[in-house]
Amino acid sequence: MALPEPSTSGRFGEFGGRYVPETLVPACLELEAAFREAWADPGFRTELDDLLRDYAGRPSPLTECHRMSEELGVRVLLKREDLNHTGSHKINNVLGQALLARRMGKTRLVAETGAGQHGVATATAAALLGMECMVYMGEVDMGRQALNVFRMRLLGAEVVPAVSGSRTLKDAVNEAMRDWVATVENTHYCLGSVMGPHPYPWMVREFHTVIGTEARAQCAALLDGGVPDVVTACVGGGSNAIGIFSGFADTDAELVGVEPAGGAAVGRGVPGVVHGMKSYLMQDEFGQVQEAQSISAGLDYPGVGPEHSHLSAIGRARYEQVTDAEVIDAFQLLSRTEGIIPALEPAHALAWISRDRAALAGRTVLLNLSGRGDKDVGQMMEILG
Ligand SMILES: *Cc1c(COP(=O)(O)O)cnc(C)c1O
Repeated sequence: MALPEPSTSGRFGEFGGRYVPETLVPACLELEAAFREAWADPGFRTELDDLLRDYAGRPSPLTECHRMSEELGVRVLLKREDLNHTGSHKINNVLGQALLARRMGKTRLVAETGAGQHGVATATAAALLGMECMVYMGEVDMGRQALNVFRMRLLGAEVVPAVSGSRTLKDAVNEAMRDWVATVENTHYCLGSVMGPHPYPWMVREFHTVIGTEARAQCAALLDGGVPDVVTACVGGGSNAIGIFSGFADTDAELVGVEPAGGAAVGRGVPGVVHGMKSYLMQDEFGQVQEAQSISAGLDYPGVGPEHSHLSAIGRARYEQVTDAEVIDAFQLLSRTEGIIPALEPAHALAWISRDRAALAGRTVLLNLSGRGDKDVGQMMEILG
């Protein structure tokens, strides 16, 4: 059922790889070996499954949207990752990596964060397992996301401003990698999406396959053994999307990733190397990485995970773009028709369904509702007045 493993050099087709300074190669190799061994160990899997159930609240439900489906003329099913502890899919990956780090004898986690959601999830796992935690966050983002900075500190993490470059997410990734190089003896770098050098894109995907595995069984129960016609998810780095795609890669379901028009790495980028991987990347005419711009801070990443670049290149998945205005409408549509306030990120996937509803008429679409909207309500209040 699952998507295939990358090659031994960590490639999905021509994408991926391990473009890191020599000082980090041993750390990547150690991590790959440790993950491979743990993932094959039933003891580790049981420990993680127990935490996902008793702490994170899995399995997350599958919700059929009766009223919205009628309004759109498209049968929409939601995979409810918004109901996980900390409010998004991110906890799946973070619990996996934190358990792995402890098994490797590490006592400290470092992480990057943009909007703060991955930082909060990492700080949460560190608190749970009694580990030290340091989160790098662009200075600009710290100002924009003050509430999440406070949350991380409440959870016992230290939040460090990244003051180089544009002082946003890509700079925070650079700082976190620099920290890891210097502290790898006792520190694990808990990366937040299916990006970065091998083994991260593969390992993070594996920690999120639980989404697709559950959804496949839940759809089979609802659809008389069948699968949905279309499976869709928003794409920032691409972790929630690859998690749900993994459950349907071997079926004839169409896989559709949705990017913000202002951060469309697959849709508008060209192959390049950033943060240890080769992938589609938004670059200017001089090959400099461009800043992403979207209403949703969680999708403001100029690159995309290498496996998405590969799935696009081989035509197994396709990638659509939506505008901020379409996202604002979709955010209100789900709230009004189903009583579910979505995060702005998955509202992108819904915006695509809504825009293409004529083409999707009568079909069944499974949408990964990657997170809840509480964090975005203040911003929407300002926009909607
Ligand atoms: C972080 C985040 C995303 C974007 O990350 P992916 O790796 O692309 O999944 C999407 N949705 C929510 C709710 C998030 O918090």
